[in-house]
Amino acid sequence: MVEHRISLNEQRLGAVMAVLGGCGARRVLDLGCSTGNLLRSLLAERQFEQIVGMDVSHRALEIAADRLHLERLPPMQRQRITLMQGSLGYRDQRLAGFDAAAVVEVIEHLDEPRLAAFERVLFEFARPKTVVVTTPNVEYNVRFETLPAGKFRHQDHRFEWTRPQFQAWAENVARRFNYAVRFAPIGPDDPVVGSPTQMAVFTQQS
Ligand code: SAH
Repeated sequence: MVEHRISLNEQRLGAVMAVLGGCGARRVLDLGCSTGNLLRSLLAERQFEQIVGMDVSHRALEIAADRLHLERLPPMQRQRITLMQGSLGYRDQRLAGFDAAAVVEVIEHLDEPRLAAFERVLFEFARPKTVVVTTPNVEYNVRFETLPAGKFRHQDHRFEWTRPQFQAWAENVARRFNYAVRFAPIGPDDPVVGSPTQMAVFTQQS
């Protein structure tokens, strides 16, 4: 039998799509969308009537527009999706009024003052009903044979958290902004170090 190893990227995408699909969202934000992997999956599901991808990188958004063939989409499809340049460190009126937001592998790129600003920008001002956040689980790094001990997975990462660190952060955010939060592993769940990616799903309580 040939085993198909589904890449961690695909598993992450699948897990996030399952949450967004399952919560019944129609209007969704992909914050830190980069070159549009998640956006492509969202476009393929008719449930999602309004899709917004935001990133701080103009270049990433250009590539996303290209990869998604935005210029060639029929008008009905084209009007479902908007790409916008912006930073999660600043309050942004354009982010208000959404059912759900995905923040996939982004928080570890924010330095600490920006992370604190991001918490308010998303959970206080934009305030989607559901928020999905994923980030590396640093405990798992010892299982990556090619990663030298103590090194992060990307040089642009400002931090990588253990499961207790991520859970403490998420529970604090949930408490301050009146959300419930649950956690799920993504990728192979090692009995000692857990899974390579960790996910928090926040649900607005009022
Ligand atoms: N969500 C994508 C990309 C993750 S890489 C995926 O899962 O593949 C992190 C992305 O966050 C990059 O595209 C980077 O440009 C973006 N980013 C970093 N800081 C940001 C900020 N302050 N505001 C918005 N996007 C930011």
